[in-house]
Amino acid sequence: MIVEDDKVLRGRVALVTGAGRGIGRAIALRLAEMGADVAINDLPTAESYALEVVEAVQSKGGQATFEPTDVCDEDAVREMIGAVERALGPISMLVNNAGITRDGMFLRMSKQDWDAVLNVNLGGAFLVSKVAARGMMKRRFGAIVNVSSVSGLRGNAGQANYAAAKAGLVGLTKSLARELAPRNIRVNAVAPGFIATEMTIGLPEAVKGAILADTPLSRPGMPSDVADAVAFLLSDAASYVTGVVLPVDGGLGM
Ligand code: NAP
Repeated sequence: MIVEDDKVLRGRVALVTGAGRGIGRAIALRLAEMGADVAINDLPTAESYALEVVEAVQSKGGQATFEPTDVCDEDAVREMIGAVERALGPISMLVNNAGITRDGMFLRMSKQDWDAVLNVNLGGAFLVSKVAARGMMKRRFGAIVNVSSVSGLRGNAGQANYAAAKAGLVGLTKSLARELAPRNIRVNAVAPGFIATEMTIGLPEAVKGAILADTPLSRPGMPSDVADAVAFLLSDAASYVTGVVLPVDGGLGM
């Protein structure tokens, strides 16, 4: 009888940014279920709920640490990667998930809101990838997944900053996929549609209704739906997949 090992990520270390809650939390738990050790990054203010994620990973048998670091702070990011590798070992999986929104119509959007969203969603992924990829390149092994959005593929009224950042992530993903492939590092993205998290809970009911009406599967996605796609892209099951943007959107982006 063949018994499939479901702990296919055993012995591997993942860093998930913005993992204190929402989609990042679900990704961290999914990777832990698959045997990975997981570093949970989030802002220092997220400590109370991020530590709960650390405990949940540990309860699944994995090692975990909380890394309270703003992904926009280059020096702090460098320190974070060092701390993770000292605590858990070499990082071979990175998920750039940290993100924020500052929605508003374009003509009324402040430069501050533009910069904030570009800095976290796109700049953060650039900085963390740059530092984490160094070790992956030396070891000639690694996988990165960037969390983009259907907004980055279709655009979205009221989200010029967010859509630009998420579209930028697509360009970053494909460029890194090309640059890092010779070192056996795969770089992919997911583009979630409407997922039920803190980020979307406050949307007006009319907006939620309009999004669902446009979603062929007629339901919001769950964080676990995105986590499953990310886990696939990080795993060896996707060992010949790089440079793709996988929609996880119930058909919204078709
Ligand atoms: P969420 O619940 O707001 O979680 C985002 C996490 O990122 C939070 O824990 C947040 O910290 C953290 N974060 C924000 N700025 C950070 C920074 N500078 N450094 C480190 N961590 C930071 O949102 P979510 O819905 O799970 O979204 C996760 C990712 O999916 C985001 O990139 C988002 O754009 C993307 N996405 C979401 C949807 C959706 O429908 N929900 C759709 C498409 C794409 P705090 O807890 O301290 O705020």
